Amino acid sequence: MMEDALKALRTYFGYDSFRKGQTEMIESILSGRDALGVMPTGAGKSVCYQIPAVLFPGITLVVSPLISLMKDQVDALNESGIPATVLNSTLTGAEMNRRIRDISAGRYKLVYIAPERMESGRFAEWASDLNISFIAVDEAHCISQWGHDFRPSYLSIARLPELIEPRPIVAAFTATATPEVREDIVRRLKLDKPTRVTTGYARENLSFSVLRGVDKRSALASIIRGHAGDAGVVYASTRKEVDECQAFLVRQGIRAGKYHAGLEEEVRAEAQEAFLRDDIQVMVATNAFGMGIDKSNVRYVVHYNLPKNVEAYYQEAGRAGRDGDPGQCVLLYSPQDVVTQKFLIEQGEGDEERKMTSYKQLNDMVQYVYTSECLQQAIVSYFGDTCEPCGQCGNCLDTREKVDITEASKVVFACVSAMRQRFGVSMTAKVLKGAGDAKIRDYGFDRLPVYGRMNSRTEKDISGLIHALVAQGFLRLSDTAYPVVMLTSRVRQAIDDGERIYRRAEEPVPESSAKSSSG
Ligand code: ADP
Ligand code: ZN
Repeated sequence: MMEDALKALRTYFGYDSFRKGQTEMIESILSGRDALGVMPTGAGKSVCYQIPAVLFPGITLVVSPLISLMKDQVDALNESGIPATVLNSTLTGAEMNRRIRDISAGRYKLVYIAPERMESGRFAEWASDLNISFIAVDEAHCISQWGHDFRPSYLSIARLPELIEPRPIVAAFTATATPEVREDIVRRLKLDKPTRVTTGYARENLSFSVLRGVDKRSALASIIRGHAGDAGVVYASTRKEVDECQAFLVRQGIRAGKYHAGLEEEVRAEAQEAFLRDDIQVMVATNAFGMGIDKSNVRYVVHYNLPKNVEAYYQEAGRAGRDGDPGQCVLLYSPQDVVTQKFLIEQGEGDEERKMTSYKQLNDMVQYVYTSECLQQAIVSYFGDTCEPCGQCGNCLDTREKVDITEASKVVFACVSAMRQRFGVSMTAKVLKGAGDAKIRDYGFDRLPVYGRMNSRTEKDISGLIHALVAQGFLRLSDTAYPVVMLTSRVRQAIDDGERIYRRAEEPVPESSAKSSSG
């Protein structure tokens, strides 16, 4: 069985051997068992469904939300001599009818289809008469409300296999899914005792770093200059920010293009083309850019603003180095970014529960910013997995001395406790600073023994300390719009065990650069 698979890999794709994970996925699918593949971007997920599609007697449906990716894959398959087509909303009625006829006549091995198509009852009726051997669901995290890109149309995929006799095999693929999202995919897609294949989340060719409290513009310009001749992507969180950032880079003599949903369709397509042709060096974009563009030689991805969650961050940063060569991923952080993300959460649709999830995910993202552990490890452990320290991220390479912050931490814990675990980071910092504002006096916090205990530090510095204690798991933030600081069980444990708490020495931050970075 796997011999045939290997032969097909060589004949149609020109590769010599399967990669990690591909063998297990294909073996499971060919033996008639459902499968869930969690494989990072660039791992080679498409081969996992294209090879079985070639070997199965009937049709393979590939569900994907990415129109440009579907088109690229269909073109590539046809070029390799595998008959494939696509059904999506960009087709005219006549073209759609023609394709439907040809599919019914069995002219195609693979049919790519947008999830919205599957919502109609007529589609289900038509499809149930086809000889479908296999259904591959790409970007399967879109079926989960807990994922970073929930699409209700994905919910309609699950009923199709049940209408077909015999039931086709179903395999789901995703690059990023927490354990909860994985379970959600299995349950909602009704996968039948699926083989689970996880190739590990670590991307060994990527180096991650976070820059806090720097002047973002000059940091960005210097990263780009350090990559002369390389292609890169800069993500910003709003259209306005994209416009301003791109204009700034152009003024610096950098060939920067821009991409966001506010631009005309044509302008966007043109920018994307220019980027693919390497006519522009760097694309400044909102997260509307990149879903489905396959440019494998992106050497760096800079986040000019904090992304909304770790899934989105890893997906976007992961567009660097898809060809396996080194990629640099830098996150530029300022506290103002959190305010923006909260605003976006509040403006966004979704019920209270959805918003709570978003706030929790935002907290996790902020935790990443302040962690002192290996950044690759921090990401991988967020997805419920483990890996060795990468040896190349900003934290692994951090040579600043480790400072014992045990005594300062105890003061923070005492303050949080005295404030009854009901206030946020900045209010806690204010009390420790001894900022005598009206709100503090109203609550009587100016009479607490901890009031002003850190008056020699800046509020910003104290906030940084609090966040570092959150990142290390001593404190936690509630999953609410205005997160309150709370103590965790680690505090008691650390104090009982006489544990010392450490932190990297912080670079002193000039106040002026901190201000300009948020604008
Ligand atoms: P994903 O969808 O997981 O991000 P792709 O399916 O786009 O990844 O594959 C990424 C790249 O790896 C593509 O250029 C693909 O042709 C290549 N690739 C896939 N499988 C193999 C293999 N077994 N050997 C060599 N290259 C492969
Ligand atoms: Zn590391």
